Amino acid sequence: MYIGVDLGGTNIAVGIVDNFGKIHYQKSIPTGAHRKSDEVIEDIINLIIQVIDEYGLNKEHIKAIGIGIPGLSEPITGNVIQCVNLNWSKIPLKRIMERILNIPVFVDNDATLAGLAEFEIGSMKGKNNGVFITLGTGIGGGIIIDGKIHTGVNGIGSEIGHMVVGKNYYDCNCGRNGCLETFSSATALINYTKKLMEEEEYETLITEKINGDLNNLNGKMIFHAAIREDKLANKAVDRLVKYLAIGIINIASVIDPEIFVIGGGLSKAGVFLLDKVRAEVLKNKFIKNLPVGKIALAELGNEAGIIGAAMLGKHNKF
Ligand SMILES: [Zn+2]
Repeated sequence: MYIGVDLGGTNIAVGIVDNFGKIHYQKSIPTGAHRKSDEVIEDIINLIIQVIDEYGLNKEHIKAIGIGIPGLSEPITGNVIQCVNLNWSKIPLKRIMERILNIPVFVDNDATLAGLAEFEIGSMKGKNNGVFITLGTGIGGGIIIDGKIHTGVNGIGSEIGHMVVGKNYYDCNCGRNGCLETFSSATALINYTKKLMEEEEYETLITEKINGDLNNLNGKMIFHAAIREDKLANKAVDRLVKYLAIGIINIASVIDPEIFVIGGGLSKAGVFLLDKVRAEVLKNKFIKNLPVGKIALAELGNEAGIIGAAMLGKHNKF
């Protein structure tokens, strides 16, 4: 058995997962992200011990622990480089946890691990090369090459949200301009729709949904209107799709994977979004008569975090 830990800005979820990616038992607690890192880490360790105990196992039954973090980590040392929304930097997470638990611990980015879960039991199952793209508050990625997760030397190897795909009207919070996540994340979609609603003349179905306050706007409302052929909503969605397609084609020209899998909150727009992305990629691919790889929706929901983290333990040699 393996332990998968999904460390988020809101909740810490811990699960017991078998060799096949099936969760047998799980529990979650609030992260309390305002606290110091050692307090949060202590909670993670205690929750792991509790979950193992409540499921009726001993530490000896656990081969490895994987942890997905909302930030960057060094793959070999397991040091957290930075987690902005937890206010963590340079934390030797693997070392601290292994010292106390005496079980091998592996750390990686949460989106990368959700991609690993899709590779093990979701949309990428049976493929050897795939790229997972999560469209949420930001954009994260998980890249599988020849059956192995690709994190890179410094842990930034799957940060596809920060690939520059154009020139944008505002800068990315990484400091550069034109990052994919400033065009195609849920945040970007909402920002651009707000801008259109403030600047454009035409009517939109969204107006009646927001109750007079643009701060009520969310991605679901925008897609809901776009599916009903709302002109403004489609303008915003088409912009998201245009830059996402540039990102996909860029990745294809470097990695040439068998499949791209789209996950995260915006993937709930389903086939409507998928069809638009496929059409845009086909229209713009750089070698016209060659395929770009299949494009599909993620199959796993929130549990992808725990499953992927546990599978990180399985994938590591120790
Ligand atoms: Zn950026």
